[in-house]
Amino acid sequence: MGRYSTRDTTSSYRQLDIRVLQRKGFLRPRGWVSLYWSVNGEVVGSIQILAASDRVILSYRHQRYAEDWKSEEYSVLLNRTRCNYGGERIWFLCPARGCSRRVAVLYGGSIFACRHCYQLAYETQREAPHSRALRRVQNIRMKLGGSGSLADDFPGRPKGMHWRTYNRHCMEAEEAQNQSWPPWFYKMLARSVPAKPFSKPTQSEAANRMKTQGSTS
Ligand SMILES: [Zn+2]
Repeated sequence: MGRYSTRDTTSSYRQLDIRVLQRKGFLRPRGWVSLYWSVNGEVVGSIQILAASDRVILSYRHQRYAEDWKSEEYSVLLNRTRCNYGGERIWFLCPARGCSRRVAVLYGGSIFACRHCYQLAYETQREAPHSRALRRVQNIRMKLGGSGSLADDFPGRPKGMHWRTYNRHCMEAEEAQNQSWPPWFYKMLARSVPAKPFSKPTQSEAANRMKTQGSTS
């Protein structure tokens, strides 16, 4: 497919602002146009946009850490609301599955989605595991007759409980406690210990990093 291309740049990396697109005339059906993101004058990303009356089609390539480049192409529906004083406003309907919120800005990671969707992804991937782990420690401590507070000493072996069972609870509690620190704790820790030699992040760490970049840029 031949792609008619209008070169244009925006400084907000990986953001699609419908007001900017409208101002640049990118929402008028006129074939594929290209939008470039630049940082300090250097192009760092691009996306192709094809406008129709009720939607835009986004086409771009993205790369997750240490994976091959992937091409994406999908529609984002548009929604129009009337202003009190006449005229209309155009909105994106967030294309993330089950969302469809009416928003003015979409944020790019591997898919473009609203701020709310990225916040949710961030919370379920990075914050829920540590609170789940904390609950696990508290449950074990209470099962052993303790209070659940991590400030207290670890409870001793209850009368009648096998040593083997008690030891297993101790090990589980220790493991869960290691996972119960919130992400900010690790950031703090990273600043106070000497730099480690480079090690390749795991897939999920890389995925989190992509998410974070997508939501904060
Ligand atoms: Zn959304």
